[in-house]
Amino acid sequence: MRCRQCARLISDSLDRNLGIMEKCKMFAHLTCCSDCTHFRDNLKLLRKLVHEYVPSDGRQNTP
Ligand SMILES: [Zn+2]
Repeated sequence: MRCRQCARLISDSLDRNLGIMEKCKMFAHLTCCSDCTHFRDNLKLLRKLVHEYVPSDGRQNTP
């Protein structure tokens, strides 16, 4: 698997449940590719931050 394909699976995995084969391929690549491991960590962190700091109704920002 190439990094580009893996990156796609990583972002997909945050939006939907991957199939068992997709998961296997992704983890197999992640164990030998530190770039994609970092990419996954950053993406997860980013999602978490967006979730925590952007209010869903947007009203919490008004004074
Ligand atoms: Zn990679």
